[in-house]
Amino acid sequence: MSFEKALAKVIADADAVNEDDLVLLLGAASEERKLLYDQADILRGMWMGSEVHLRGVIEFSSCCSLNCLYCGLRADNKKLKRYRMIPGEIISAARIAAEMGLKTIVLQSGQDPYYTKEMLFEIIAALKEGLDVAVTLSLGVRSPKDLRAFREAGADRYLLKFETSDPGLFEKLRPGTNLRDRLECLCLLKETGFQVASGNIIGLPGQTLTTLARDILLLRELDVVMAGVGPFVPHPDTPLGRDARGDLEKTLNALAVTRLLLPYFHLPATTALDAVHPRGRRLALQCGANVVMPNVTPGHYREHYSIYPNKPGRGEDPRTTVKETRAMISEMGRIEGKGYGHAPDRSYRPRRNLTRPGVAVARYLKKAGDLNECGGTE
Ligand code: SF4
Repeated sequence: MSFEKALAKVIADADAVNEDDLVLLLGAASEERKLLYDQADILRGMWMGSEVHLRGVIEFSSCCSLNCLYCGLRADNKKLKRYRMIPGEIISAARIAAEMGLKTIVLQSGQDPYYTKEMLFEIIAALKEGLDVAVTLSLGVRSPKDLRAFREAGADRYLLKFETSDPGLFEKLRPGTNLRDRLECLCLLKETGFQVASGNIIGLPGQTLTTLARDILLLRELDVVMAGVGPFVPHPDTPLGRDARGDLEKTLNALAVTRLLLPYFHLPATTALDAVHPRGRRLALQCGANVVMPNVTPGHYREHYSIYPNKPGRGEDPRTTVKETRAMISEMGRIEGKGYGHAPDRSYRPRRNLTRPGVAVARYLKKAGDLNECGGTE
């Protein structure tokens, strides 16, 4: 099987694609990459339209009880200045974001038990009652009781990345935790009624293309509504500080392949991409992404939420961040989503064997001289 045939196969019937096909696609090089990205962009347009949904992220606590080897917030990083926003500050930051027209607020923190079920219930309820927004939580693993309470308070979505589908790598990188518990929590979130988002990190030490292929198949298995696909950016104050960072091309390949396999997912252009390339998010929006998550945390806290170094927008006022995000979307000829950007409507399914995406691949295959051999796609 060649790259061209694997691409033709995923376009003809994404459900028939296997791990080996995905490895070929993920390893796309030079000219192949252009074709891969074009296909992903076409599918994004067909399934998700031109809208880019904005999710305003409030990083409300940089305290974390865990010790993930790749993360600057890890408990053992004593160099990091920690902060916790009080409920009033969180609500006020959300109000500023809502006044700017953002329709989703993401409440994100390290795994921080300081925020009890009751505290979070009050914050979520205040956001849902006082502001016209959807609420996403990204708080790590919480107890079933807590999750039910958050849902009762009105939270709509939960973001919990599995980071890697390799159980051994997961345990090595996230000491004291295991993939099984993470996946069980993802299932519980779905049962509790959340729209569930997950995702992975590209370029982790010890990760292979096969690992990435399995990550994407796991995303499909989990049937989540959004998948965050972002690069590994080593933080100097972590045990992986001297490792190589995630490669831009590999990350864009993974993003594009995820779009090909899962055309109806929301896929963010992750902020971490801008830390590896000045146009990282723009490039992601051209190869399958349809969501951007501007940071709306008050500027003075931002540098202390140091998951990875050189985060864009440190010290910046949320209004500036949102304004620049909107400018980027409009410069790219895309439009800002005006709704809440909830889970895509799965009842809408364009025909699989489509002419439009087939055109680009057919053109490429014709050039490669093996259109007939692989059967074509038009
Ligand atoms: S990845 Fe999440 S759980 Fe792990 S140390 Fe960082 S903030 Fe904590």
